[in-house]
Amino acid sequence: MSIVKALFAGRIPTESLLPYPPLRDQDRESLGPMLDAIDQFLAPKQADFKRWDREGAQPAEFIQGLRDLGLFGLIIPEEYGGLGLSNAAYARVLSQTSRHDSSVSLTIGAHSSIGMKGLLLFGTADQKTKYLPRLASGELIAAFCLTEAGAGSDAASIRTRAEKNPDGSWTLTGEKIWITNGGIADLYTVFARTPGEAGKITAFLVEAGWTGVSHGPHEDKMGIRASSTTTVNFDRVRVPPENVLDTEGKGFKVAMAILNNGRTGLGGGAVGGMKALIALATAQANERQQFGRPIAEFDLVREKIAQMMVDCFAAESVVWMVAHAIDSGSDDYSTEAAISKIYASEAMQRTAYEALQIAGGSGFMRDYPYEQAVRDSRILTIFEGTNEVLRLYVALSGLKDLGRSYAELRSALDDIFNNPIKGFGVLGDYAEKRLTQATGIGRDRISAEVPASLREPSEILEKYTPELAKAADYVLRRHGKAVVERQFELKRVADLAIDLFVGACVLSRAAALQADPRTASPAASIARLFAQRAKRRMAETIRRITRNEDDAVRAVAAFALEEGRYPWDVF
Ligand SMILES: Cc1cc2nc3c(=O)[nH]c(=O)nc-3n(C[C@H](O)[C@H](O)[C@H](O)COP(=O)(O)OP(=O)(O)OC[C@H]3O[C@@H](n4cnc5c(N)ncnc54)[C@H](O)[C@@H]3O)c2cc1C
Repeated sequence: MSIVKALFAGRIPTESLLPYPPLRDQDRESLGPMLDAIDQFLAPKQADFKRWDREGAQPAEFIQGLRDLGLFGLIIPEEYGGLGLSNAAYARVLSQTSRHDSSVSLTIGAHSSIGMKGLLLFGTADQKTKYLPRLASGELIAAFCLTEAGAGSDAASIRTRAEKNPDGSWTLTGEKIWITNGGIADLYTVFARTPGEAGKITAFLVEAGWTGVSHGPHEDKMGIRASSTTTVNFDRVRVPPENVLDTEGKGFKVAMAILNNGRTGLGGGAVGGMKALIALATAQANERQQFGRPIAEFDLVREKIAQMMVDCFAAESVVWMVAHAIDSGSDDYSTEAAISKIYASEAMQRTAYEALQIAGGSGFMRDYPYEQAVRDSRILTIFEGTNEVLRLYVALSGLKDLGRSYAELRSALDDIFNNPIKGFGVLGDYAEKRLTQATGIGRDRISAEVPASLREPSEILEKYTPELAKAADYVLRRHGKAVVERQFELKRVADLAIDLFVGACVLSRAAALQADPRTASPAASIARLFAQRAKRRMAETIRRITRNEDDAVRAVAAFALEEGRYPWDVF
């Protein structure tokens, strides 16, 4: 069962949270040599990465080096010539490449996480045999083409069209923008509107070499500058019928499945970036002397370092918990995946910002790596679903299930007369949940299952999980279907779910680390810090569900939007 959906129902699914999932043995075997090879290849290239960031491109020889390392075949099954890594191991590889350079992770990640993921998830045997071996070797590089000038977050509004020809082939016309790997890809997963039932979208596999396919110049970006981002144009491109991915009209489902499945790649990359920054920031804090001592001795510097550690630990714990859920064959992980992306991206941005602050003026200079980390990480909350839209998704998917239990309740009441046993059964579950929320009696206990050193964070999880259920219940009852438009309320519900789910992952991971005397104490302190801060955030969020200044926020924004400017000057 989805852990987050259980939390929304006021339950802590201890059986899904403990013990923290270990890496598969087969992954462990392939990962060790792979991570060493990555370090050997990338570590000596620090000056090159800096130059390529300025120039805004990765040279062809370097991409050939990535091919030679097998980095384009990470998640492709061995039978097709890939390494067959699990999602967890794949995220670990991207974490390692990100320690050296974000653009490298993006080139590999856009290929695997989204470019050819549709083929892996939905391809026919023929499509896989035709393309996967060449994608695994990197002879073909893949890209994912969804976004258009008029269709960003609202991906369902794309205008690229594919018309069916009498011979069953398709004619594809339209332009996609900001496509990662756009300028170097050989195979595109393209989403287009197809005729038939209004609004239907179909996914196609399109080769870059086909007549009518072209791409624009590399975009001049703020960050991840060396990775290729271009427009991709399709001018009456003939696509053979066998290159439809999954079923005609199911393209939107394909796109969402790809994005959900690929999110842990982005999260893994963010974790690697944070680890590199923590190493830099601790060295800087120890070495830099001010007022006659290393700045590491000042509490306000230590506070930043501690927060980086908590953020990195929490992001790592949640990303690998979600990757494990995907690897275990769960098909209900999209809410957890969205939370892992939201948390890891924001944690990485906080870490980059604070690492630069610790470096002071040096952090602002291009000779140092901090400003690039700030620029590179800025994209993380924007692409693969903006964090705003993902927060709405987290809340709405949790509320949808709760709404379903109301519908069940209604039908249970009807059923009491028709089928008393079934009717009372469902009613019983519901009444029990309400009782738990109201009184805390029967509250799920995870504190008994974790070492005593983790009592405080586990009790916070126990206390606040019913609060999420109560908050969701309140919001749904108050607004009913109109809740879809109540973004302040949805964000509050999402923030509670994020703190609880990430907190549960932190607790689980910290529990696993209690077995090692070297890591037990710092891991317990991190879990305690995360939980105490989450508790303060959650208490405030809950308070604001009923006592807030939402109307004033709307009024100020409405005034500014109407004026189109800030209207006052002091003189
Ligand atoms: C470097 C880079 C690489 C990219 N790579 C790819 C790629 O490989 N393939 C691909 O298909 N796309 C790619 N994209 C596109 C990316 O996925 C989109 O930029 C993203 O989906 C957001 O769309 P948008 O930029 O049009 O922003 P908009 O959708 O216009 O959003 C603008 C702002 O409004 C907010 N907003 C929008 N709708 C709502 C709402 N309903 N409620 C509340 N707030 C809302 C957003 O959160 C955001 O803050 C890339 C973009 C960049 C910059």
